[in-house]
Amino acid sequence: MRVVVSGAAGFIGSHFCDRLLAEGHEVIALDNFLTGSERNLSHLDGDGRFRFVWQDITVPFQVAGDVDTVVNLASPASPKDYMEHPIETLDVGSAGTRNMLELALEKGASFLLSSTSECYGDPLVHPQAETYWGNVNPVGPRSCYDESKRFAEALTMAYHRRHDVRTNIARIFNTYGPRMKLDDGRVVPAFLDQALRGEPLTVFGDGSQTRSFCYVSDLVDGLYRLMQSEERLPVNLGNPLEMTILQFAEHIRERTGSSSEVRYHPLPEDDPRQRKPDISRARRILGWEPQISLDEGLRYTIAYFQGLMKKSPESLSEVKPSGPGRK
Ligand code: NAD
Ligand code: UDP
Repeated sequence: MRVVVSGAAGFIGSHFCDRLLAEGHEVIALDNFLTGSERNLSHLDGDGRFRFVWQDITVPFQVAGDVDTVVNLASPASPKDYMEHPIETLDVGSAGTRNMLELALEKGASFLLSSTSECYGDPLVHPQAETYWGNVNPVGPRSCYDESKRFAEALTMAYHRRHDVRTNIARIFNTYGPRMKLDDGRVVPAFLDQALRGEPLTVFGDGSQTRSFCYVSDLVDGLYRLMQSEERLPVNLGNPLEMTILQFAEHIRERTGSSSEVRYHPLPEDDPRQRKPDISRARRILGWEPQISLDEGLRYTIAYFQGLMKKSPESLSEVKPSGPGRK
């Protein structure tokens, strides 16, 4: 297959390109490096089945030749990133998604959208199944991301209903692994960075809010299966193992052997109280569930961050610890 992937230089996008190439497909990778990095794709230099094109997908563009599948992964994803780039985030979810859907329509290709558990907002139903419509503040600080993804889902369904485009929608829950940016403010890189440097772990609020963390290879496997399925409605992809942020901090301390203390900071506005995917639909339709335990996933991720720190300790001193200032 010939697959166009937007957001290819990002954390998930780069792993997804690796998977497509490993499966024998040809990849045309698009990115404008808003939050991604060339480094994430440098290992693919010289691979004849891989081509990178610098492209802002909010601007209409052409791709020469046949395309079998269009995969739209472009969007800032960490709260720090999307709050720093609220307009770009709304643009990429709306105009960017529209341009990617137009490409799929023009080429007769299928289309995969990476949506998010943020569509559920601060959920009043627990765990979250795809049938839950969510509890989103449309004007809060996270709305630029949440509403852009909800719009992107609506647009995707409209192209399916109006133009018969074969679409898939993945609602991705918190995912972690190598190639996350150390300074992107998300809890996994933030705690690992702090623990490895022996600095206090910045727990927001009292740490009783919950999240569920999925290792990136599991997520990519779910996306790959979904891309080949006939399911048009959203499918949750995430790890249902739920824990409080305080429990997670303790876990990080144990796994890194760090004696970092926990330091409490104010809870950011609209921070969801609880998050746990109901993955019954993914189990039933895709035969998918996560395979990598939290311990194993953290082992790979810690090794990656330790490698980065060895390579460029000076760049790490420039990395500011994430805290409530991320707002
Ligand atoms: P990321 O920031 O690492 O990657 C996003 C990529 O999109 C970056 O390389 C960025 O430069 C690119 N991009 C942004 N705007 C663009 C534009 N206008 N044109 C071209 N490229 C553009 O984030 P990620 O964690 O890899 O997330 C990838 C996708 O998965 C996003 O759509 C995100 O919403 C979704 N998602 C991720 C998570 C997670 O936990 N990582 C959870 C839910 C949903
Ligand atoms: N969090 C924290 N300390 C940090 C970063 C995040 O306590 O340094 C909390 C954050 O308030 C949220 C959870 O960890 O409750 C997950 O945050 P993240 O930004 O990783 O993802 P979210 O699920 O909020 O999009």
